Amino acid sequence: VFNFSSGPAVLPHEVLLQVQAEMLDWHGSGMSVMEMSHRGPEFGQILAEAEADLRTLMAIPDNYKVLFLQGGAHLQFAMLPLNFAPVGSTVDFVNTGHWSKVAIKEVSRYANVNIVASSEDKNFSYVPDESTWQRTPDAAFLHYCSNETIGGVEFNHIPQANGVPLICDMSSNILSRPVDVSQFGMIYAGAQKNMGPSGVAVSIVRSDLLGKARSDTPTMLNYKSYADNGSMYNTPPSFGIYVAGLVYKHVLQQGGVAAMEAKNIEKANVIYAAIDASNGFYHCPTALADRSRMNIPFTLADQQLDQAFLAGAEARHLLQLKGHRSVGGMRASIYNAMPLAGCQALADYMNEFAKMKG
Ligand code: PLP
Repeated sequence: VFNFSSGPAVLPHEVLLQVQAEMLDWHGSGMSVMEMSHRGPEFGQILAEAEADLRTLMAIPDNYKVLFLQGGAHLQFAMLPLNFAPVGSTVDFVNTGHWSKVAIKEVSRYANVNIVASSEDKNFSYVPDESTWQRTPDAAFLHYCSNETIGGVEFNHIPQANGVPLICDMSSNILSRPVDVSQFGMIYAGAQKNMGPSGVAVSIVRSDLLGKARSDTPTMLNYKSYADNGSMYNTPPSFGIYVAGLVYKHVLQQGGVAAMEAKNIEKANVIYAAIDASNGFYHCPTALADRSRMNIPFTLADQQLDQAFLAGAEARHLLQLKGHRSVGGMRASIYNAMPLAGCQALADYMNEFAKMKG
């Protein structure tokens, strides 16, 4: 089966097999990871290795904290202003689609939001040219979403910070390509696409930004609580952190994020080529330069063929290709764990279906 789910998404098969092998007895401890005290030496080792491996993978500088949290990316949307935007301050947002909008709505409850640029005029199909952004000089931070999971729009560069903390929702393309962490105030991501099971979120935050939260910030919504307590202010999502740690080791074994990037480019090209060679049978709405390597939305020129396309795909074990309910059509999510063979199988099917029905 090839599973094109947008998230929770496919995990590396080797990782799942290892989880299975260690399920009842982790490294001779006689315990499942789910049964361990999070304060015990076994879990201590799991957490330390997960952090160390993520640091290696992303070359995270020492002046950044790596935090494991819960509440997904959604909870971070609320934590951002509480931690980084003093009462009455303005924050800058780039609006490139669904996840930008959700973040903007939540942050607007606590801070003034200035939209520096939006691609809504063309149904969020592109990244607005940075030279046109209307920035607030003393913004509390500048936020963008590096990959719009629903729209399939991905930034191919890191925006200029201009002395303002740059904060990025990297939920759906973290670990898919190298990034220079030192350019960010904070990077955050839910785990359930490229890093592990849902229930874990990761924040990589520059240390000097911590400790300035609003005085009424709940303890569990203050990043400093996690930083000061090694992500264990309360009971962490231990099993999810364990699986994420195995994913990090797996990515390292495969050559790290640079190797992932090369593979991801090749994978995405196979599917975009099928779209582009179809003479309009398939259409991808995203501007060429901003096409996502992780999420490929496409429509069929004749929508009445959608059901037949999906049924034929399922018969070939190509699963979860239905597009998001807000945009319709199809979407192929091809995160790190999707092999090239899966993309090839989808492209072959697309070509055959177009030949048959076109
Ligand atoms: N941001 C992006 C880019 C996403 O893709 C998602 C989920 O798909 C979210 C945020 C929300 O994540 P969560 O469900 O973990 O809160």
